[in-house]
Order: sequence, then structure tokens, then C-alpha cells
Amino acid sequence: MKKKMVSMMLCAAMTAAMVAGCGNREETPAEAPAAEAGEETPAAEDGEEAPAEADAEESEAPAEGTLVMATNAYFEPYEYYEGDQIVGIDAEMAAAVAEKLGMELQIEDMEFDSIIPAINSGKADIGVAGMTVTEDRLVNVNFSDPYTTATQVIIVQEGSEIAGNDDLAGKTIGVQLGTTGDIFAEDVEGATIERYNKGMDAVQALANGIIDAVIIDNEPAKQFVSKAEGLKILDEEFVTEEYAIAIAKDNEELLEKVNTALEELTADGTIQSIIDKYITAE
Ligand code: GLN
Repeated sequence: MKKKMVSMMLCAAMTAAMVAGCGNREETPAEAPAAEAGEETPAAEDGEEAPAEADAEESEAPAEGTLVMATNAYFEPYEYYEGDQIVGIDAEMAAAVAEKLGMELQIEDMEFDSIIPAINSGKADIGVAGMTVTEDRLVNVNFSDPYTTATQVIIVQEGSEIAGNDDLAGKTIGVQLGTTGDIFAEDVEGATIERYNKGMDAVQALANGIIDAVIIDNEPAKQFVSKAEGLKILDEEFVTEEYAIAIAKDNEELLEKVNTALEELTADGTIQSIIDKYITAE
């Protein structure tokens, strides 16, 4: 229900703001009708066209007692390197979840658009990467209950003529490949989209004047802008999204355990204190 609402909000916001409709596209390869199937319910039991690797036999956890988390560790404050260690809200929260499950967390860093395939091939148990719940992703994976919310924002150069959403038409927009910012940019009329593997690479291209704007999640946006020269985040707020933990469709048992852990960690204030440690209120 909630998940559907968020996606609908995303769709509605995009449609209203950008003229174009809200079709299915991006990370669901081929099989367009699958996107419709996702709209009904997050139904694992339907068993309709799941991706080839996702059959039941294949998704055993790699090692007993180890919870493997797939992420893209260039998304401060959610996941990033401190020396050779991956830290951040997602890393700490996942470690707390693993502890509840009596397991040890192992973090695997990869490209953002490899995370869902890694879960479905059994290389990872959970995907935790500031990952927004979307209808298209729900076709391929289940999501836990959301653990936080975020918004998409626009970053521009300080002197830019782009003052809001509507001014993006016809511009060159940088995004991180396969993210909701990427989906959002696709609905901007006449825009050219430059896709980068890391959000910071898009921001750097903006600082260098190669592109006109970047669409990205609000908290990483703040971090990236603070590390570059002459950039600002526009005030206009877009859609609110929910971040959740992605889990293979055939691993309902893990989904339940993770949700129970999240519930306990929310109730006892652990999640909020992890968020507060990394995000200071302005
Ligand atoms: N929240 C965005 C998404 O899920 C971006 C996530 C990320 O870049 N790590 O697409």
C-alpha cells in the first residue's frame, strides 16, 4: 500500500511537472508487461516473468551466519568509505539488523545497477543502498518496510538560469545510472541525459560546466555540493521517496526476519540514532 502510494506520488509528480507520462522503462529489461504486474501487489506468489536467474533453487545465502549486503559505497551519508571501511547510515543499520539475526554483516561494494542482479543471483542477501522503493524494482525484488524517506533535488551552478523543475526542459542533466534521478530525468522534455556510475562524478561534471544540472537524492546532494566549488541545491522539492532494504522474491523468510529486526530497531530508537549520527538537523 505505502509502496504503491510512493510510486504513484513519484509518477504523479513527474507527470504533472514534466508533461510526459509515467511509462515503464529503466531497469526492467525487455518484458514491458511486467511493470504492469508490479502495480497490483508485490506478489511473489504470482510467479510471473521473473528474471532468468531468479528461480527458487538458486538463492541460498553464500555462507551460514553471514549476511551479505550489496551496496554502492559512494553515497554519503548512507554508504561511503572511511579509509578502507564502508560506513554510513545503511552500513550501520544493516549491521544492527545482522546482529538481531545473529549473523555477521559482509558488505560488497558494486555499481548501483548491479545490486538487484546480485540479490537475484544469490551473490548478496540484501541490497541496502539508499534504494528507493519503486514499482519497477518490485517486479524483481521484495522490499522491507521503509526505514527512512528522501527527496530528489536539482543541483546547478550558482549562477545558473535554472531556478526550478520547469527550467530543466532541453537541458543536459547528469544522473547516477539506474537511479530514480535517472528515471525522473527521462521525463524532462527535450533533455539530454548524461549517466554516471557515481553521483559525485555527475556533480564534478556539473562543476566543470559539462552538464547543466544534476538530479539526485537530497542528503548525498548536500555532501557532494560541499565537496565541489560554485554549486547550489535548488529549493524546489520534488517527490518524497522511501528507502528500504531489497531482498530476493524467493526469500520471504529473510524478508520477515529483516522486517521484525527493523521494527525492533525502530521501536528502541536505534535507527533514529544512527540517522542522527550522520545527518545533523539544520
Ligand atoms: N534513491 C535513489 C534510487 O534508489 C538513488 C540511490 C543511490 O544512488 N544509491 O534510485
